[in-house]
Amino acid sequence: MVRDITHFIAGRHVKGTSGRFGDVYNPATGEVQARTPLATTAEMRSAVEAALKAFPEWSAQNPQKRARVMFNFKALVEKNMDELAHMLSAEHGKVIADSKGDIQRGLEVIEFACGIPHLMKGEYTESAGTGIDVYSMRQPLGVVAGITPFNFPAMIPMWMFGVAIAAGNTFVCKPSEKDPSVPIRLAELMLEAGAPAGVLNVVHGDKEAVDAILKDPDIKAVSFVGSTAIAEYVYMTGTAHGKRIQAMGGAKNHAIIMPDADLDQVVDDLIGAGYGSAGERCMAIAVAVPVTDKLGDELVRRLKPRVEELKVSLPTDPAANYGPLVTREHRDKVKGYIDMGVKEGAELVVDGRNFRMQGYENGFFLGGSLFDHVKPTMRTYQEEIFGPVLQIARAKDFEEASSLPSKHQYGNGVAIYTRDGDAAREFASKVQVGMVGINVPIPVPLAYHTFGGWKRSAFGDVNQHGPEGVRFYTKIKTVTARWPTKGGAREGSSFVIPTMK
Ligand code: NAD
Repeated sequence: MVRDITHFIAGRHVKGTSGRFGDVYNPATGEVQARTPLATTAEMRSAVEAALKAFPEWSAQNPQKRARVMFNFKALVEKNMDELAHMLSAEHGKVIADSKGDIQRGLEVIEFACGIPHLMKGEYTESAGTGIDVYSMRQPLGVVAGITPFNFPAMIPMWMFGVAIAAGNTFVCKPSEKDPSVPIRLAELMLEAGAPAGVLNVVHGDKEAVDAILKDPDIKAVSFVGSTAIAEYVYMTGTAHGKRIQAMGGAKNHAIIMPDADLDQVVDDLIGAGYGSAGERCMAIAVAVPVTDKLGDELVRRLKPRVEELKVSLPTDPAANYGPLVTREHRDKVKGYIDMGVKEGAELVVDGRNFRMQGYENGFFLGGSLFDHVKPTMRTYQEEIFGPVLQIARAKDFEEASSLPSKHQYGNGVAIYTRDGDAAREFASKVQVGMVGINVPIPVPLAYHTFGGWKRSAFGDVNQHGPEGVRFYTKIKTVTARWPTKGGAREGSSFVIPTMK
């Protein structure tokens, strides 16, 4: 039977009233397993009102008490890890171990948020002038919102609400309609952890719900992660409505492979980072750039059997390297890019299009594909594929290789493989990409650093989590205070701006 998902508003499950729904598939069987209600503007508004109501008390809590709620939440998520990982995997299609990784990476942001008393501390200058002290403090913004993609249904909501709520804001999360159950379960666990009703609300929806967020005068900031076209729309519309916006978009991450690289490690890393989670990661390696044709030939020789041997299976199969893609529509889009690559003249070394999972012929499976001789002029190079497809674009030297990620429209992540510290240092310094790995394939910064790409991979100036996450969800107030001193002389009115001269 098809289950109806609910919203979670003011600490309670609430049925959708719009009469509009999105389908949630079991990606392994292709069957619809649930329906996500798509909220109206009025339903979104009821969540904003719940968050507004919860804000005064929550923001007035001392930060140590808010941190304790985050500690409790972390313990509850860990206790429920198996249930959450199976729930995530059943809607997304990623394998169980990778689903646990998704949750764990989110929990690491919660661990960071447990340090909020320290992170919110302001600055103080004693005697900035005679008898004058200056201090600054960070204050929460109020009601803030997060709009999240399908590919990390646990990690990305936690990136956002973990920092926002610990900082004293109240939150409305609009998760992907494709895998909505985990965010709802996380909201239940936050309530159980001690966050009062209304501190974390989850409202499902599509464009109507997103527009309601972007135009609601009581939402002060919006964090978005998803595809570039929508990220840009969210940034333009949200800022036009006076909101603080961070909007992360798509990616096309390159790995530059220098002739002195440890090729065994490179092959292992390309297989993991190219095909893990069926390539549905914004930090997946999509393009490998071997420097020199000789290295290109050797790389393809070694990669080909590894791609052919990939174990594509049910997400619950512990031996699976990756499972099905999220929807039929997305699987067909990725297949379409493979067709296009062939038409454009790239060499399809391994063709995953005909893979069939026995007994699960209607599932959204796709075998791994490998392209060689991909050129920067090809559309399949310029656009994000977001599937189990690795492209090889050969370069003649370091300069040509390094220019590829720098010139690409996206600038999320990049990696270089070399033993040459000088080349790696120059690359890291000059490349026009936001996150760089040196002999590391998926350079996702840890929670206490900050995550964000450049160019069309991110709109807005302040990144996710880490110190920038705290800055995004707080505003700074600076107080200049003078207390009358005993016997102090009065200076009278001054018509000149005070200076330190
Ligand atoms: P998506 O853009 O389709 O959806 C993201 C969110 O936007 C969802 O909540 C969705 O409901 C909403 N949305 C969809 N269409 C909309 C519209 N027309 N108007 C308003 N809102 C709309 O992205 P997705 O397919 O869920 O996720 C995959 C994309 O996310 C990839 O491009 C991937 O690179 C990107 N991504 C980026 C990062 C990053 O940090 N840069 C991280 C993860 C995923």
